Amino acid sequence: MARKVGVLTLAIAAVVVALGAQTPAYDVLIRNARIVDGTGSPWYRGDLALRGDSIAQIAPRIEAAAGRVIDARGHVVSPGFIDLHTHARRGIFDVPTADNYVRQGVTTLIEGPDGSSPLPIKPFLDRLGATHITPNFGLFVGQGTVRDQVIGSVNRKATPEEIEKMKGLVRQGMLDGAFGLSSGLFYVPGTFTPTAEVIELAKVAGAMGGIYISHMRDEASGVVQSVRETIEIGEKGGLPTQVTHHKIIGKGNWGKSVDTLRLIDEARARGVDATIDQYPYTASSTGIQAALMPAYALEGGRQEILKRLQNPSMRSELRKETMRLIMEERGGGDPQNVQLARCEWDHSLDGKRLGDVTKGRGLEPTIENAAETALWIVDKGGCSGIFHAIGEDDLQRILRHPATMIGSDGEVPIFGVANPHPRSYGTFVRVLGRYVRDLKVITLEDAVRKMSAYPAQRIGLVDRGVLRAGMKADIAIFDPDTIRDLATFENPHQYAEGVDYVLVNGQIAFEGGKMTAARPGRILYGPSHAR
Ligand SMILES: [Zn+2]
Repeated sequence: MARKVGVLTLAIAAVVVALGAQTPAYDVLIRNARIVDGTGSPWYRGDLALRGDSIAQIAPRIEAAAGRVIDARGHVVSPGFIDLHTHARRGIFDVPTADNYVRQGVTTLIEGPDGSSPLPIKPFLDRLGATHITPNFGLFVGQGTVRDQVIGSVNRKATPEEIEKMKGLVRQGMLDGAFGLSSGLFYVPGTFTPTAEVIELAKVAGAMGGIYISHMRDEASGVVQSVRETIEIGEKGGLPTQVTHHKIIGKGNWGKSVDTLRLIDEARARGVDATIDQYPYTASSTGIQAALMPAYALEGGRQEILKRLQNPSMRSELRKETMRLIMEERGGGDPQNVQLARCEWDHSLDGKRLGDVTKGRGLEPTIENAAETALWIVDKGGCSGIFHAIGEDDLQRILRHPATMIGSDGEVPIFGVANPHPRSYGTFVRVLGRYVRDLKVITLEDAVRKMSAYPAQRIGLVDRGVLRAGMKADIAIFDPDTIRDLATFENPHQYAEGVDYVLVNGQIAFEGGKMTAARPGRILYGPSHAR
C-alpha cells in the first residue's frame, strides 16, 4: 500500500513538472513598445507581460515565454480609452462587439449621460452582462429620467414629497452601481428643473461617492451662466462636477470659452473639483425638435407638441423662435448647416441638409421656409440632426485645457444604417491624428491622459487607465504616424485607421484589422454598488 502511494506521488510530480515546462510564464507578451502609460509622463521603451486579465510586469526587456507574443515594432502601447459620455445603449444589443469604438482603441463605455439613463439600472446591467459584450460598460443615473418617472414631462417645481421620491431613486441607482448623477438641463424635462432641486439630488450621489456630469442648460448665448450653474451644483452638492461635451454653439457666441475656462480655473483654485469633457468636432448632434424648438413648446410630450403646432397663431410664434435658433444657435446661421441624421418615417432624408429638404418641398430655402420645414419635420415624427455651429478656436482652446478629457457623445451604429454623427467612429483617433500629429494642439502623452488615466480617476476606476503592473490589461496598440479618422459628415460609416491591436481584460479583441471572437467586456460598478 505504502509503495503504491509512493508511485502515485511520483507520477503526479512528473505531470506537474511537465505542465510547468509547457505553461508559459505569461499569456501575452508585448515587445518593443513605445509605452505611453496614461499618466501624461513622456513615453519610454519597454515590454509588457500580461497574465489573465492583468498586467503582470513592465520592464525594458522581458525574456520569459508567453502564450502569445506581439511585436509592437516601436508603435505606441497605451491604456485602452475610457469614454465617459456615450449613448451606447443605442446599438449595443445589436452590435455587442461595439466595433466602432473598439477599433479606435476604446475599451470602456460609460452610458446614462445627458440626464437620460435606464431606470431602474439593475435589470439593464444584468441584461447587458448576459449579452457578452466586447468593451467594459458602466452607467450614470439620469436626473431627467428620475424626474420624468416621478412627476412627468411638466414645467413646474417638484413638491418636497416628490423630491424625496427622486432622491430615493438616485440612491437606488447608486446602490445598483451608477458612477454618479447625470443631467441634461437643456432637454425636457431637465430644463424644467430649478438649480436647487438638482443640488438636492447631487448631494445624494455625492455622499455615495459619485460625480455630477451635465449637459448644461445652454451651450449658446447662455453658456457662461450655465457653466456657473454647473460649478454651483458641484460646490453646493459637495461632489466633483463635470461640464460634458463642452462647446460654444452659434457664431455670435464663439470666443466665450475664454470666459468658461476662466470660471473652471477659478472654481478649481478655490477647491471645487470642476472638469470638462469634449468631442473633437465642430458640429453637434441631437433631435431636431430639441435643437430648433423652444423648450416651452415641448412640455407634455408628443400629443401636446402636435396640438401647439396645429394652432395657427402658436405655430407662427414657434416659427419665429425656430428662425432665431437657426440664425443664432444650433442652426449655425444657415439652413445648410443643419443636416438630418436619421428620420424613422422617411430614411431618404437621412444625411440631407435642411436647405435642400426645404427646396425638395418646393419652397425657396429662406430662413422662414427652413423654419417651417423644421416644424413640418417635427409634425411628421421628428429626426435626429447634425448641427454645424461650433467654433474651431473654442474647440482647440478647450482641448488644451488641463481639466479637459475626451468623450465621444456617440452611440453604437449599425454599420451602414442612417447618417450618424461621425464622432461614433472617429472621436479618439481624430484627437490622435488631427489634433496631436497634424495640428500639434496637444502632445501625444497629454491626449492619451485625457482618454485614459484622467477619466478613470474621475469615476474611481482605480485598476484601469494606467499601464502599470497590477492594473487590468485594457490596452491599445497604434501607429502614431498613421492613426486617423475616416468617418465624415457625408460618409460616416468608416472605421478608424492606424490601430493595430486592442486588448480588453487581457484578451485580444481586435487584431489584423478584424474583431476577434472574444467578448471580454465586463460590467463596471460604481463606488456604492451593493453586491
Ligand atoms: Zn448631451
